[in-house]
Amino acid sequence: MSDSKLSRRSFLRNAVLTVAALPATAALVNRQAWAQEKVDPEGAQAQSLNYVHDASEVDHESYEEGQLCKNCQFYQAGEDEEWGPCTIFGGDLVNANGWCTSYAPKA
Ligand code: SF4
Repeated sequence: MSDSKLSRRSFLRNAVLTVAALPATAALVNRQAWAQEKVDPEGAQAQSLNYVHDASEVDHESYEEGQLCKNCQFYQAGEDEEWGPCTIFGGDLVNANGWCTSYAPKA
């Protein structure tokens, strides 16, 4: 068998294996997304940081109008996402319109 036939066969086998692995990879990525939980406003950390899902409900002296999770430097999602990971909460999801006392504007 010539080298070119071998390399073509090897290429085809690798291509088939790669395509076959795609669903498994997608399932793994989806599982990671599901692993993130929404922050419970009644949880101990949320209570200590006065976190709320809706900033319009904030009754705190350090809150200023317009401060929202989606424009906080710790929010790890785009402004169009309704929920996004917050680094202060270990990557758990906070509402884009939420707020807590760790708020810091994006630079
Ligand atoms: S640190 Fe920022 S993004 Fe996280 S909950 Fe507080 S205000 Fe929202």
